Amino acid sequence: MCGIVGYIGKRQAAPILMAGLHRLEYRGYDSAGIAVGNKGTLKVAKCKGRVRELDELKPQRFKGMMGIAHTRWATNGEPSDRNAHPHCDSAGRFAVVHNGIIENAAALKEQLTARGVTFSSDTDTEVFAHLIAMMDDGSPLENVVSAALRLVVGTYGLAVIDAARPDVLVVARNGSPIVLGIGDKEMLFGSDSAAFVRHATSMVHLDDGEIAVVRADGYETRKLDGTSTVKTPSALVWKDEAYEKGAFDHYMRKEIGDQPEAVRRTLGGRLDARFQTTHLGGIELAARDLLDVRRIKLLGCGAAYIAGATASHLIEQLARLPTQAEPASEFRYRNPVIEMDTLYIAVSQSGETFDTLAAVQEIKRRGGRIIGIVNVVGSTIARECGHGIYLHAGPEIAVVSTKTFTCSVVALALLAIHLGRLRDLSNANGARLIKGLEALPDHIAAILKREDEIAQLAECFQKAEHAFYIGRAAGYAIAMEGALKLKEVSYLHAEAYPASELKHGPLALVTSETPTVIVLPRDDLYRKNVSTIEEIKARGGPVIAITHPGEAHVAFDRSFEVPMLEPELDPLLLNIPLQLLAYHVALQRGCDIDQPRNLAKSVTVE
Ligand code: GLU
Repeated sequence: MCGIVGYIGKRQAAPILMAGLHRLEYRGYDSAGIAVGNKGTLKVAKCKGRVRELDELKPQRFKGMMGIAHTRWATNGEPSDRNAHPHCDSAGRFAVVHNGIIENAAALKEQLTARGVTFSSDTDTEVFAHLIAMMDDGSPLENVVSAALRLVVGTYGLAVIDAARPDVLVVARNGSPIVLGIGDKEMLFGSDSAAFVRHATSMVHLDDGEIAVVRADGYETRKLDGTSTVKTPSALVWKDEAYEKGAFDHYMRKEIGDQPEAVRRTLGGRLDARFQTTHLGGIELAARDLLDVRRIKLLGCGAAYIAGATASHLIEQLARLPTQAEPASEFRYRNPVIEMDTLYIAVSQSGETFDTLAAVQEIKRRGGRIIGIVNVVGSTIARECGHGIYLHAGPEIAVVSTKTFTCSVVALALLAIHLGRLRDLSNANGARLIKGLEALPDHIAAILKREDEIAQLAECFQKAEHAFYIGRAAGYAIAMEGALKLKEVSYLHAEAYPASELKHGPLALVTSETPTVIVLPRDDLYRKNVSTIEEIKARGGPVIAITHPGEAHVAFDRSFEVPMLEPELDPLLLNIPLQLLAYHVALQRGCDIDQPRNLAKSVTVE
């Protein structure tokens, strides 16, 4: 969601900034802009639409060795040329890019208007540009920005440049991520490291309430009250190539294909065949602490919540601990009871999801025990939790999660085995599950090879505007994930329902034009699911089954069989065809697969 990139150094800034904006496109945005400082003046270009439309305004030609750029995801004021960032003061000396929301913008605007300032946009951000200009007393830029920020209520990741102070950039963070990239006699920053991987060798994550003074030869960090802070740079984990789409048309398809390798990385070094258990170095909780755990609560948003819901069945089965998943956004607002013997687990690909982060902070504030399941190393949730399991899935660029959904469930399966083996899970079952996990990547790869079959299944949706996805137990969680994927990328209305609940209401909507996708493992609930299928068929509804090989006890309209692995791990495999199904339906409908309308990759606002 929204991207910021900045550069100061010995090279022309504009091409580096524009390349950075292209790299940040995946986060989701509606307009883009750039400001470059040179010889006491600023050059600004911005427009509604894609970064390639900004390219057409030729900002690459702007001369200057420092600048900032932005992709906006509108919160205050419609997406338009005038509301695109950067925003400047009336004299055009200061430029600001901002992610977040200035909550007291209306009051500040009133005060500024009373002092004669006229505004040229509807954004909250512009207020800040005028505020700095008003407060500039010639002291160092960081002091002026700090003083202005003390008047601001709200969330921000922001960056400021001043045409008259060409050797310095100031960035600040409160609630929206900012990462500094350290290069060779040049400095960069971005809302994530994708913005500058090509140029930096190490990075520094700012914390909330920190500002950084960035010069070509280094940086200093401090709090708003001026006290300095000390940061330790960390190496960049993912190299530039990891962000490339390669031979694929879409990042979503590439990332579906990445899954065998990504799962191998999640498993890497964590399986312990000797004790039929798993090693999870990152959770740093002794066996005794883990034995004190009586309940597990999984929190996340979107696919991360559903990964938790899928894994909740696994944890309950293997560790025999009551386990529940809840959307983090709901949890944080409902004055939850925090229990000392509950292990809370936050799941977030980016590690920056605002609602999940807020839930983590609330749990910590009340003394709860929390660990993170996160993909981006060093991200805010990872740092707040302090303990956790990194997915190591590699960058996920498509807005919709595919490989990180799978890897999150795999990471939670590792935890489930670990907890289970401390309790009642037998050696034999531990060994069986470890073997199952080892075999998982090859099974995923085998399903991916049958993509053509799924492309054919997608034709069932050609005339549909509504679809049901149903399943029981973990199969229901997979149905939720399948429906979410279809909604996100194809804009078809897909509703996930527990198969058992269909007859209690939604069956009324089933017609010959409403396909139902059923997640149908051959487990204890198979016969029950067959009865549900009969009920749908009796109402003329087409049924597509994602199932296991074996005799079909009912006539499906279409089916796709995935190999059987281990019952506890089968949901992971049943999900893969649903990812490809959503992809192919979207492809056939001509949708913008990597950047679905209205959506952003990491939702860093409330
Ligand atoms: N609140 C600002 C705006 O609407 C920033 C939005 C963003 O995070 O991109 O312009």
